[in-house]
Amino acid sequence: MDFIDPHIHMVSRVTDDYETLARMGCVAVSEPAFWAGFDRGTVDGFRDYFEQLTAVEPKRAAQFGIQHYCWLCINAKEAENVSLSREVISMIPEFLDRPGVLGIGEIGLNKNTKNEATVFLEHMELAIKYDQPILIHTPHLEDKYQGTRMILDMLCDDSRINPDRVLVDHVEEHTVSEVLDRGFWAGMTLYPVTKCTPDRAADMIERHAGERLLANSAGDWGISKPTAVPDLIFTMRRRGMDEALIRKVVHDNPVEFFSKSKQFHYTPR
Ligand SMILES: [Zn+2]
Repeated sequence: MDFIDPHIHMVSRVTDDYETLARMGCVAVSEPAFWAGFDRGTVDGFRDYFEQLTAVEPKRAAQFGIQHYCWLCINAKEAENVSLSREVISMIPEFLDRPGVLGIGEIGLNKNTKNEATVFLEHMELAIKYDQPILIHTPHLEDKYQGTRMILDMLCDDSRINPDRVLVDHVEEHTVSEVLDRGFWAGMTLYPVTKCTPDRAADMIERHAGERLLANSAGDWGISKPTAVPDLIFTMRRRGMDEALIRKVVHDNPVEFFSKSKQFHYTPR
């Protein structure tokens, strides 16, 4: 089945992963800007990273017939450096018109601090000013519930934000309903250790009929599995779930959400 991985950090993966994904039916990926595993020291470090996201990765993906899209921001882990964050936010518009840039992301919270909230709100302003969709990172483990509430409150408090153009990622059973109830799209991350297993994701898909739900691998430089979306397809088929519902979650929903950006040019094969 053709599928899209809407959240995967290909800069951290080898070229063989693109080939494996293509063989398994991957037609497109979207790559949010994230933490490199260390704090970058200068705005030029980010400029080079955005060059890699917008010029290098699309070429590497295209060798295997995969379309590569991306989202730009400074990650919440680096938001404690507010002055550097502001430099990066004011540089991002240089890249917003590049082909394949879908919006602002993955912005969000990490430890739910005041500086993180400040930088989050300034990213929101950027997205509003340039009419960009938003991709949200919600915190891990013990910080997830409170962090997700804080993020949803900041978004809902601003009437200029249209929830239908915001994807809230890394939802789990205790956060997914509120995200969907408030009109946002929700992404489930399939990780070998933390976050969702394919079975837990399939439960949520059954419970919510797949409406506004996406599934991703969030593959990166840590322990993760870039082929996690095919694992989910396998799990849903084994459960006897409807093919149309499976396709909705792994293909049609990403297409519908990404189409909210004018930079998404995709025709199903
Ligand atoms: Zn990520």
